[in-house]
Amino acid sequence: MQPQPSRRRISPRRLAALASVSALTFAVSTSAGHGHLSPGASTAGAGPGSLSRTSAHGPCLISSKREVQMSEGIPTAPGYTRSTGTVRALTLMIDFSDAPGEGDALDRYREFFPRTREWFTTSSYGRLDYRPEIPVPDWLRMPKSFRAYGIERGAPFDPGYRELVRDIVAEADPEVDFQSYDLLNVLVTPNAGPAALDTVLSVTFAGNGEAPTADGVPVSNASFVYSRQDDGSGSYDLTGYRVLPHENGHVFGLPDLYTAEGGGAVGHWDIMSEDWGANNDLLAWHKWKLGWLDASQVGCAANRGTREYVLTPLARAGGPKLVFIPLNAHSGYAVELRTRAGNDEAVCRPGVLVYRVDANVDTGMGPITVYDSRRDSGGCTRAPNVHAELSDAPFTPGESFEDRGAGIRVAVTAAGAEEYRVRVTRTSRS
Ligand SMILES: [Zn+2]
Repeated sequence: MQPQPSRRRISPRRLAALASVSALTFAVSTSAGHGHLSPGASTAGAGPGSLSRTSAHGPCLISSKREVQMSEGIPTAPGYTRSTGTVRALTLMIDFSDAPGEGDALDRYREFFPRTREWFTTSSYGRLDYRPEIPVPDWLRMPKSFRAYGIERGAPFDPGYRELVRDIVAEADPEVDFQSYDLLNVLVTPNAGPAALDTVLSVTFAGNGEAPTADGVPVSNASFVYSRQDDGSGSYDLTGYRVLPHENGHVFGLPDLYTAEGGGAVGHWDIMSEDWGANNDLLAWHKWKLGWLDASQVGCAANRGTREYVLTPLARAGGPKLVFIPLNAHSGYAVELRTRAGNDEAVCRPGVLVYRVDANVDTGMGPITVYDSRRDSGGCTRAPNVHAELSDAPFTPGESFEDRGAGIRVAVTAAGAEEYRVRVTRTSRS
Protein backbone atom coordinates (compact mmCIF):
# COMPACT_ATOMS: atom_id res chain seq x y z
CA MET A 1 0.00 0.00 0.00
CA GLN A 2 1.18 3.51 -0.50
CA PRO A 3 0.26 7.10 0.06
CA GLN A 4 -0.73 9.45 -2.71
CA PRO A 5 1.65 9.86 -5.64
CA SER A 6 2.06 13.58 -5.34
CA ARG A 7 2.72 15.59 -2.23
CA ARG A 8 0.89 18.52 -3.73
CA ARG A 9 -2.32 16.63 -4.02
CA ILE A 10 -2.82 15.59 -0.45
CA SER A 11 -3.06 17.23 2.93
CA PRO A 12 -0.95 15.90 5.83
CA ARG A 13 -4.12 15.05 7.71
CA ARG A 14 -5.36 12.86 4.88
CA LEU A 15 -2.00 11.10 4.70
CA ALA A 16 -2.11 10.43 8.42
CA ALA A 17 -5.52 8.85 8.13
CA LEU A 18 -4.44 6.71 5.21
CA ALA A 19 -1.29 5.53 6.93
CA SER A 20 -3.13 4.33 9.99
CA VAL A 21 -5.46 2.42 7.74
CA SER A 22 -2.49 0.77 6.04
CA ALA A 23 -1.13 -0.42 9.38
CA LEU A 24 -4.51 -1.95 10.11
CA THR A 25 -4.41 -3.81 6.84
CA PHE A 26 -1.10 -5.38 7.63
CA ALA A 27 -2.25 -6.36 11.10
CA VAL A 28 -4.68 -8.60 9.33
CA SER A 29 -2.48 -9.59 6.46
CA THR A 30 0.86 -10.55 7.89
CA SER A 31 0.01 -13.14 10.48
CA ALA A 32 2.44 -16.02 10.51
CA GLY A 33 1.79 -19.02 8.36
CA HIS A 34 3.03 -21.00 5.42
CA GLY A 35 4.80 -18.91 2.90
CA HIS A 36 4.44 -19.77 -0.65
CA LEU A 37 1.97 -20.68 -3.26
CA SER A 38 4.34 -23.55 -3.92
CA PRO A 39 4.73 -26.13 -1.15
CA GLY A 40 8.07 -27.18 -2.62
CA ALA A 41 9.61 -23.82 -1.85
CA SER A 42 11.60 -23.28 1.30
CA THR A 43 9.55 -21.81 4.11
CA ALA A 44 12.56 -20.05 5.57
CA GLY A 45 12.49 -16.29 5.20
CA ALA A 46 14.46 -14.67 2.45
CA GLY A 47 17.90 -13.30 3.00
CA PRO A 48 21.06 -14.28 4.74
CA GLY A 49 19.44 -16.96 6.84
CA SER A 50 22.63 -18.97 6.96
CA LEU A 51 24.39 -16.33 9.05
CA SER A 52 24.50 -17.21 12.70
CA ARG A 53 24.47 -14.78 15.56
CA THR A 54 27.82 -16.09 16.70
CA SER A 55 29.52 -15.20 13.39
CA ALA A 56 31.49 -12.01 12.82
CA HIS A 57 28.24 -10.52 11.54
CA GLY A 58 26.26 -11.72 14.57
CA PRO A 59 26.01 -8.33 16.31
CA CYS A 60 24.66 -6.84 13.05
CA LEU A 61 21.82 -9.35 12.72
CA ILE A 62 19.35 -7.14 14.53
CA SER A 63 15.89 -8.46 15.35
CA SER A 64 12.69 -7.23 16.93
CA LYS A 65 12.19 -7.85 20.64
CA ARG A 66 8.42 -7.62 20.36
CA GLU A 67 5.82 -8.74 17.91
CA VAL A 68 5.83 -6.46 14.87
CA GLN A 69 3.86 -7.17 11.73
CA MET A 70 6.73 -6.63 9.32
CA SER A 71 10.22 -6.10 10.73
CA GLU A 72 13.52 -4.83 9.33
CA GLY A 73 15.22 -7.61 11.31
CA ILE A 74 17.57 -10.11 9.68
CA PRO A 75 16.85 -12.86 8.92
CA THR A 76 13.33 -12.16 7.67
CA ALA A 77 10.58 -14.06 9.49
CA PRO A 78 9.28 -17.18 7.73
CA GLY A 79 6.18 -17.10 5.55
CA TYR A 80 7.26 -14.73 2.79
CA THR A 81 8.27 -15.57 -0.76
CA ARG A 82 11.91 -16.50 -1.29
CA SER A 83 13.79 -13.58 -2.90
CA THR A 84 16.68 -15.35 -4.63
CA GLY A 85 16.83 -17.84 -7.47
CA THR A 86 13.94 -18.42 -9.84
CA VAL A 87 10.64 -17.04 -8.58
CA ARG A 88 7.52 -17.70 -10.66
CA ALA A 89 4.96 -14.92 -10.43
CA LEU A 90 1.48 -16.02 -11.43
CA THR A 91 0.03 -12.88 -13.01
CA LEU A 92 -3.72 -12.59 -13.60
CA MET A 93 -5.65 -9.70 -15.11
CA ILE A 94 -9.17 -9.47 -13.67
CA ASP A 95 -12.29 -7.48 -14.48
CA PHE A 96 -15.89 -7.17 -13.31
CA SER A 97 -19.37 -6.80 -14.76
CA ASP A 98 -19.52 -3.19 -13.49
CA ALA A 99 -15.93 -2.54 -14.64
CA PRO A 100 -15.36 -4.54 -17.81
CA GLY A 101 -11.77 -4.64 -19.02
CA GLU A 102 -11.15 -2.11 -21.76
CA GLY A 103 -8.98 -3.34 -24.60
CA ASP A 104 -6.56 -6.23 -24.46
CA ALA A 105 -5.74 -7.70 -21.05
CA LEU A 106 -2.18 -8.12 -22.29
CA ASP A 107 -1.88 -4.33 -22.55
CA ARG A 108 -2.51 -4.18 -18.81
CA TYR A 109 0.21 -6.82 -18.37
CA ARG A 110 2.59 -4.79 -20.52
CA GLU A 111 2.23 -1.78 -18.23
CA PHE A 112 4.26 -3.81 -15.70
CA PHE A 113 6.32 -6.25 -17.75
CA PRO A 114 9.02 -6.77 -18.74
CA ARG A 115 10.03 -3.74 -16.67
CA THR A 116 9.24 -5.24 -13.26
CA ARG A 117 11.33 -8.30 -14.12
CA GLU A 118 14.17 -6.05 -15.33
CA TRP A 119 13.94 -3.90 -12.20
CA PHE A 120 14.45 -6.97 -9.99
CA THR A 121 17.28 -8.33 -12.18
CA THR A 122 19.11 -5.00 -11.92
CA SER A 123 18.49 -4.43 -8.22
CA SER A 124 19.41 -7.99 -7.25
CA TYR A 125 22.56 -8.15 -9.46
CA GLY A 126 20.90 -11.08 -11.20
CA ARG A 127 20.28 -13.04 -8.00
CA LEU A 128 16.51 -12.89 -8.37
CA ASP A 129 15.27 -14.48 -11.58
CA TYR A 130 11.72 -13.11 -11.51
CA ARG A 131 9.51 -14.83 -14.05
CA PRO A 132 6.05 -13.41 -14.68
CA GLU A 133 3.72 -16.01 -16.15
CA ILE A 134 0.29 -15.49 -17.73
CA PRO A 135 -1.48 -18.85 -18.13
CA VAL A 136 -4.73 -16.89 -18.68
CA PRO A 137 -3.80 -14.24 -21.28
CA ASP A 138 -7.22 -12.59 -21.11
CA TRP A 139 -9.42 -10.72 -18.66
CA LEU A 140 -10.57 -13.11 -15.95
CA ARG A 141 -14.17 -12.06 -15.20
CA MET A 142 -15.11 -12.16 -11.51
CA PRO A 143 -18.56 -13.60 -10.69
CA LYS A 144 -19.60 -10.52 -8.68
CA SER A 145 -19.52 -6.82 -9.41
CA PHE A 146 -16.54 -4.82 -8.11
CA ARG A 147 -18.88 -2.97 -5.79
CA ALA A 148 -20.09 -6.22 -4.23
CA TYR A 149 -16.63 -7.11 -2.87
CA GLY A 150 -16.50 -3.91 -0.81
CA ILE A 151 -12.86 -3.24 -1.72
CA GLU A 152 -11.69 0.15 -0.48
CA ARG A 153 -8.48 1.62 0.80
CA GLY A 154 -7.34 -0.16 3.92
CA ALA A 155 -9.90 -2.93 3.49
CA PRO A 156 -8.82 -5.90 5.62
CA PHE A 157 -8.44 -9.39 4.18
CA ASP A 158 -11.82 -10.39 5.58
CA PRO A 159 -14.35 -10.51 4.17
CA GLY A 160 -13.85 -8.71 0.83
CA TYR A 161 -10.39 -9.89 -0.18
CA ARG A 162 -10.99 -13.42 1.08
CA GLU A 163 -14.00 -13.60 -1.19
CA LEU A 164 -12.14 -12.04 -4.10
CA VAL A 165 -9.20 -14.45 -3.75
CA ARG A 166 -11.57 -17.39 -3.50
CA ASP A 167 -13.32 -16.28 -6.69
CA ILE A 168 -10.03 -15.67 -8.51
CA VAL A 169 -8.93 -19.18 -7.59
CA ALA A 170 -12.24 -20.70 -8.71
CA GLU A 171 -12.23 -18.87 -12.05
CA ALA A 172 -8.56 -19.53 -12.83
CA ASP A 173 -8.31 -23.08 -11.47
CA PRO A 174 -9.23 -24.91 -14.69
CA GLU A 175 -6.25 -23.31 -16.44
CA VAL A 176 -3.83 -22.74 -13.56
CA ASP A 177 -1.82 -25.11 -11.37
CA PHE A 178 -1.33 -22.89 -8.34
CA GLN A 179 1.31 -25.25 -6.95
CA SER A 180 3.82 -24.15 -9.56
CA TYR A 181 3.95 -20.50 -8.49
CA ASP A 182 5.71 -18.59 -5.74
CA LEU A 183 3.57 -15.45 -5.64
CA LEU A 184 0.40 -14.01 -7.16
CA ASN A 185 0.03 -10.67 -8.96
CA VAL A 186 -3.52 -9.49 -9.55
CA LEU A 187 -3.63 -6.68 -12.11
CA VAL A 188 -7.10 -5.24 -11.74
CA THR A 189 -8.70 -3.48 -14.70
CA PRO A 190 -7.85 0.21 -14.22
CA ASN A 191 -11.50 1.30 -14.45
CA ALA A 192 -12.47 -0.59 -11.26
CA GLY A 193 -12.69 1.64 -8.21
CA PRO A 194 -11.54 5.24 -7.78
CA ALA A 195 -8.71 6.88 -9.72
CA ALA A 196 -5.35 6.24 -8.05
CA LEU A 197 -4.84 9.97 -7.78
CA ASP A 198 -7.79 10.11 -5.40
CA THR A 199 -7.35 6.87 -3.50
CA VAL A 200 -4.56 4.34 -3.90
CA LEU A 201 -6.03 0.88 -3.44
CA SER A 202 -2.96 -1.17 -4.39
CA VAL A 203 -2.13 -3.55 -1.57
CA THR A 204 -0.27 -6.74 -0.72
CA PHE A 205 -1.24 -9.51 1.65
CA ALA A 206 2.05 -11.15 2.56
CA GLY A 207 2.90 -14.12 4.75
CA ASN A 208 -0.83 -14.62 5.20
CA GLY A 209 -1.33 -18.25 6.24
CA GLU A 210 -5.06 -17.65 6.69
CA ALA A 211 -5.58 -17.12 2.97
CA PRO A 212 -7.84 -19.45 0.97
CA THR A 213 -6.06 -22.44 -0.55
CA ALA A 214 -5.64 -23.26 -4.21
CA ASP A 215 -4.53 -26.71 -5.38
CA GLY A 216 -3.68 -27.45 -1.75
CA VAL A 217 -1.51 -24.40 -1.04
CA PRO A 218 -2.58 -21.14 0.64
CA VAL A 219 -2.49 -18.04 -1.54
CA SER A 220 -0.32 -16.41 1.13
CA ASN A 221 1.60 -13.83 -0.87
CA ALA A 222 -0.51 -11.79 -3.25
CA SER A 223 -0.14 -8.26 -4.64
CA PHE A 224 -3.10 -6.32 -6.04
CA VAL A 225 -2.60 -3.35 -8.34
CA TYR A 226 -5.47 -0.99 -9.15
CA SER A 227 -5.97 2.01 -11.39
CA ARG A 228 -3.10 4.12 -12.71
CA GLN A 229 -1.17 6.75 -10.79
CA ASP A 230 -0.95 9.13 -13.70
CA ASP A 231 -0.72 12.70 -12.41
CA GLY A 232 -0.05 14.18 -15.83
CA SER A 233 3.58 15.03 -15.03
CA GLY A 234 4.66 12.75 -17.86
CA SER A 235 6.32 10.23 -15.57
CA TYR A 236 3.62 7.55 -15.67
CA ASP A 237 4.70 5.86 -18.89
CA LEU A 238 8.27 5.69 -17.62
CA THR A 239 7.74 4.77 -14.02
CA GLY A 240 4.10 3.78 -13.44
CA TYR A 241 5.11 0.10 -13.26
CA ARG A 242 7.05 0.73 -10.04
CA VAL A 243 3.99 0.17 -7.88
CA LEU A 244 4.39 -3.55 -8.63
CA PRO A 245 8.01 -4.00 -7.47
CA HIS A 246 6.96 -2.02 -4.36
CA GLU A 247 4.03 -4.35 -3.69
CA ASN A 248 6.19 -7.41 -4.42
CA GLY A 249 8.73 -6.00 -1.93
CA HIS A 250 6.12 -6.79 0.73
CA VAL A 251 5.76 -10.32 -0.63
CA PHE A 252 9.50 -10.72 0.00
CA GLY A 253 9.08 -9.38 3.56
CA LEU A 254 10.00 -5.70 3.24
CA PRO A 255 8.05 -3.15 5.33
CA ASP A 256 6.71 0.22 4.14
CA LEU A 257 9.17 3.04 4.82
CA TYR A 258 6.80 5.95 4.25
CA THR A 259 5.03 7.17 7.37
CA ALA A 260 1.98 9.22 8.27
CA GLU A 261 3.98 12.25 7.10
CA GLY A 262 4.67 10.69 3.70
CA GLY A 263 8.15 10.02 2.28
CA GLY A 264 10.03 12.32 4.68
CA ALA A 265 11.83 9.56 6.61
CA VAL A 266 13.66 7.90 3.71
CA GLY A 267 12.78 10.06 0.69
CA HIS A 268 13.62 8.57 -2.68
CA TRP A 269 16.34 6.20 -1.43
CA ASP A 270 14.20 3.05 -1.43
CA ILE A 271 11.24 1.87 -3.49
CA MET A 272 9.46 0.91 -0.24
CA SER A 273 9.48 4.64 0.62
CA GLU A 274 8.47 6.23 -2.68
CA ASP A 275 7.39 4.07 -5.60
CA TRP A 276 6.27 6.90 -7.87
CA GLY A 277 8.34 9.42 -9.78
CA ALA A 278 11.82 8.62 -11.07
CA ASN A 279 13.19 5.11 -10.79
CA ASN A 280 15.16 4.31 -7.64
CA ASP A 281 16.77 1.33 -5.99
CA LEU A 282 16.51 -0.35 -2.61
CA LEU A 283 18.68 0.48 0.38
CA ALA A 284 21.68 -1.81 0.88
CA TRP A 285 20.09 -2.98 4.14
CA HIS A 286 17.14 -4.31 2.16
CA LYS A 287 19.46 -5.94 -0.37
CA TRP A 288 21.25 -7.76 2.45
CA LYS A 289 17.90 -8.74 3.97
CA LEU A 290 16.79 -10.13 0.60
CA GLY A 291 19.98 -12.16 0.12
CA TRP A 292 21.30 -10.01 -2.73
CA LEU A 293 24.52 -9.13 -0.86
CA ASP A 294 26.97 -11.66 0.56
CA ALA A 295 28.32 -11.40 4.08
CA SER A 296 31.68 -10.53 2.48
CA GLN A 297 30.09 -7.35 1.07
CA VAL A 298 28.90 -6.21 4.49
CA GLY A 299 31.14 -4.79 7.21
CA CYS A 300 29.95 -5.17 10.80
CA ALA A 301 31.42 -2.40 12.98
CA ALA A 302 30.56 -3.75 16.41
CA ASN A 303 33.88 -3.26 18.19
CA ARG A 304 35.40 -0.24 19.84
CA GLY A 305 38.08 1.62 17.91
CA THR A 306 38.60 3.16 14.50
CA ARG A 307 38.41 1.30 11.22
CA GLU A 308 38.50 2.28 7.57
CA TYR A 309 36.02 0.77 5.13
CA VAL A 310 35.81 0.86 1.35
CA LEU A 311 32.39 1.23 -0.26
CA THR A 312 31.61 0.70 -3.95
CA PRO A 313 28.51 2.14 -5.66
CA LEU A 314 25.43 0.20 -4.59
CA ALA A 315 24.09 0.03 -8.14
CA ARG A 316 27.18 -1.80 -9.40
CA ALA A 317 27.60 -5.56 -8.90
CA GLY A 318 30.43 -6.79 -6.69
CA GLY A 319 32.58 -5.17 -4.03
CA PRO A 320 31.81 -3.95 -0.52
CA LYS A 321 28.36 -2.30 -0.26
CA LEU A 322 27.29 -1.85 3.35
CA VAL A 323 28.77 -1.06 6.73
CA PHE A 324 26.46 -1.64 9.68
CA ILE A 325 27.15 -0.17 13.12
CA PRO A 326 24.90 -1.88 15.65
CA LEU A 327 23.63 0.18 18.58
CA ASN A 328 22.03 -2.76 20.35
CA ALA A 329 20.32 -6.05 19.44
CA HIS A 330 17.48 -4.21 17.71
CA SER A 331 18.89 -1.20 15.89
CA GLY A 332 21.93 0.40 14.33
CA TYR A 333 23.33 2.70 11.64
CA ALA A 334 23.77 1.65 8.03
CA VAL A 335 26.28 3.27 5.67
CA GLU A 336 26.33 2.86 1.87
CA LEU A 337 27.41 4.61 -1.34
CA ARG A 338 24.73 5.86 -3.74
CA THR A 339 25.48 7.15 -7.23
CA ARG A 340 23.39 7.75 -10.35
CA ALA A 341 23.49 4.30 -11.97
CA GLY A 342 21.35 1.21 -12.43
CA ASN A 343 17.92 1.73 -10.86
CA ASP A 344 19.10 4.94 -9.16
CA GLU A 345 18.11 7.43 -11.85
CA ALA A 346 17.30 10.43 -9.68
CA VAL A 347 20.53 10.68 -7.64
CA CYS A 348 21.62 14.34 -7.93
CA ARG A 349 24.32 14.29 -5.27
CA PRO A 350 26.34 11.07 -5.08
CA GLY A 351 27.79 10.17 -1.73
CA VAL A 352 27.57 8.17 1.45
CA LEU A 353 24.07 7.66 2.77
CA VAL A 354 23.69 7.12 6.52
CA TYR A 355 20.47 5.84 8.03
CA ARG A 356 19.17 4.26 11.18
CA VAL A 357 17.43 0.89 11.07
CA ASP A 358 15.19 -0.18 13.95
CA ALA A 359 13.79 -3.72 13.86
CA ASN A 360 11.32 -2.87 16.65
CA VAL A 361 9.52 -0.25 14.58
CA ASP A 362 6.71 -1.60 12.45
CA THR A 363 5.86 -1.13 8.79
CA GLY A 364 4.58 2.36 8.04
CA MET A 365 5.78 3.67 11.43
CA GLY A 366 9.27 4.69 10.31
CA PRO A 367 11.54 1.64 10.77
CA ILE A 368 14.27 3.46 8.81
CA THR A 369 15.35 7.10 9.06
CA VAL A 370 17.81 8.70 6.62
CA TYR A 371 20.14 11.42 8.01
CA ASP A 372 20.28 14.57 5.93
CA SER A 373 23.79 16.00 5.53
CA ARG A 374 22.16 19.28 4.45
CA ARG A 375 19.08 19.95 6.52
CA ASP A 376 16.54 22.46 5.21
CA SER A 377 18.47 22.89 1.96
CA GLY A 378 15.48 22.10 -0.22
CA GLY A 379 17.47 19.33 -1.87
CA CYS A 380 19.12 19.10 -5.28
CA THR A 381 16.50 17.36 -7.43
CA ARG A 382 13.94 18.83 -9.75
CA ALA A 383 12.53 15.44 -10.74
CA PRO A 384 8.74 15.35 -10.35
CA ASN A 385 7.35 13.27 -7.50
CA VAL A 386 10.69 12.85 -5.74
CA HIS A 387 10.97 13.95 -2.09
CA ALA A 388 13.28 16.89 -2.65
CA GLU A 389 14.64 17.67 0.83
CA LEU A 390 16.43 14.33 1.29
CA SER A 391 17.73 14.20 -2.29
CA ASP A 392 21.03 15.78 -1.18
CA ALA A 393 21.25 13.71 2.03
CA PRO A 394 24.49 11.83 1.21
CA PHE A 395 27.72 12.82 2.93
CA THR A 396 30.73 13.75 0.77
CA PRO A 397 34.49 13.80 1.51
CA GLY A 398 35.34 15.96 4.50
CA GLU A 399 31.86 15.55 5.97
CA SER A 400 30.88 13.30 8.82
CA PHE A 401 27.91 11.94 10.69
CA GLU A 402 28.06 11.79 14.46
CA ASP A 403 25.96 10.34 17.26
CA ARG A 404 27.72 11.71 20.32
CA GLY A 405 25.48 9.98 22.80
CA ALA A 406 26.32 6.58 21.32
CA GLY A 407 29.97 7.48 20.71
CA ILE A 408 29.76 6.82 16.97
CA ARG A 409 31.30 8.82 14.14
CA VAL A 410 31.29 8.10 10.40
CA ALA A 411 33.66 10.29 8.34
CA VAL A 412 33.93 10.23 4.56
CA THR A 413 37.68 10.40 3.95
CA ALA A 414 38.09 9.89 0.19
CA ALA A 415 36.03 9.63 -2.97
CA GLY A 416 36.83 8.25 -6.41
CA ALA A 417 34.85 7.04 -9.38
CA GLU A 418 35.23 3.41 -8.30
CA GLU A 419 35.03 3.64 -4.53
CA TYR A 420 34.68 5.85 -1.45
CA ARG A 421 36.44 5.43 1.87
CA VAL A 422 34.79 5.92 5.24
CA ARG A 423 36.31 5.92 8.72
CA VAL A 424 34.10 4.54 11.47
CA THR A 425 35.02 5.43 15.03
CA ARG A 426 33.19 4.06 18.01
CA THR A 427 34.10 4.69 21.60
CA SER A 428 31.80 2.00 22.98
CA ARG A 429 30.98 -1.58 22.03
CA SER A 430 27.49 -2.45 20.90
ZN1 LIG B 1 3.49 -0.72 0.62
